[in-house]
Amino acid sequence: MKLSVKDLQLQSQRVFIRVDFNVPIKDGKVGDDSRIKASLPTIQYAIEHGARVILASHLGRPKGQRVDKYSLRPVVEHLSQLMGKQIAFVEDCVGAPAEKAVAALADGDVLLLQNLRFRPEEEKNDDGFSQQLASLCDVYVNDAFGTAHRAHASTVGITRHVSKAAAGFLMEKELEYLGRVITDPEHPFVAILGGAKVSDKIPVINALIDRGVDKLLIGGAMAYTFLKAEGFTVGKSLVEDSMLQTALEIKKRAEEKGIQFLVPTDHQVVDSYEPVKGEKIVTKTIPIEFTNIGLVGMDVGVETVGHFASALADARTIIWNGPMGVFEEPPFDEGTVGVAKAVAEAADRGATVIVGGGDSVSAVSRAGVADRITHISTGGGATLEFLSGDELPGVAALSDK
Ligand code: AMP
Repeated sequence: MKLSVKDLQLQSQRVFIRVDFNVPIKDGKVGDDSRIKASLPTIQYAIEHGARVILASHLGRPKGQRVDKYSLRPVVEHLSQLMGKQIAFVEDCVGAPAEKAVAALADGDVLLLQNLRFRPEEEKNDDGFSQQLASLCDVYVNDAFGTAHRAHASTVGITRHVSKAAAGFLMEKELEYLGRVITDPEHPFVAILGGAKVSDKIPVINALIDRGVDKLLIGGAMAYTFLKAEGFTVGKSLVEDSMLQTALEIKKRAEEKGIQFLVPTDHQVVDSYEPVKGEKIVTKTIPIEFTNIGLVGMDVGVETVGHFASALADARTIIWNGPMGVFEEPPFDEGTVGVAKAVAEAADRGATVIVGGGDSVSAVSRAGVADRITHISTGGGATLEFLSGDELPGVAALSDK
């Protein structure tokens, strides 16, 4: 059991909280703020217990350089509004300016440091840099579940230089829900996987097969790799040709274990990815076996959504990661939204439903069913790695109770 923020003495302590404020920024404003909101319980708790709070996060991929569009300044404005409290901000995450800003904090104050990834040492898990971060605080809390699969200075290195490293409430909640799913899922246990890349999802599919998943529902572009491997014509749909053999092996292994393995039976297709200027893209829904070599599959069809919904009817545990189609571009969001509604209905019937990964999470919001889902995971890669049975470096590095 890892130390919890609740186990720490926080009064007048400088508390470094690694949060995941990696949110979309558009025109200098925060878009979807669910990751920020998800970290509020830990921040509020620290304030209420008289801590001097130092928040640190990454945003985007500035690759060790100061890049304006990845500044956390819009986040501090948004956070101040959300909390109804002025949050301080400093343009660097270490060195004299950061030290000065921390020294100015009174009990209950909050400071946000500038993007950790403006420093190349962050992603290198550099020890000197980790020490500099640690020197800002008395105790460390990690609430950034979404980054816990990365061994970086702010998630791993820093823990070697602080007396105590604890999990925040969001981190604890993620570990509790996801932990329950991988150790003791209620059956029938159904996993829905989508998105583009089969290769990214192989470890999790294998782990799910080993952990006794009862049904695997595969949608999104990754389904075409399975379909092509079985000999279907998939036209110009996205396929990972290097994964065809692996796809066959996975399917065989699943079937040997008596796992129901569902792939789409119909799909929405277009006759070109890039429409010729001025030409309207023609979309139609057709059975998979009617696909000719010129077509591109963009989304699962209504029949497939119906099959998937039927497979969910008796489910007691559902995990879902990855969209069913190119859901960013309506109407190719229909399959994903349909699945979002089906998992929400399963949750209403008492199933434990866990949705992870940015795309599926936004689909759930778009379908207006987010509040019916048991647990919306803030992690994408971290959730998949955790469900694959890997210990996350950012969790392993925390102090034991
Ligand atoms: P991943 O990062 O592997 O979870 O993939 C997410 C991406 O898969 C999203 O950006 C979707 O647009 C994309 N995607 C899903 N289905 C398809 C499809 N049929 N063709 C092309 N891209 C797809």
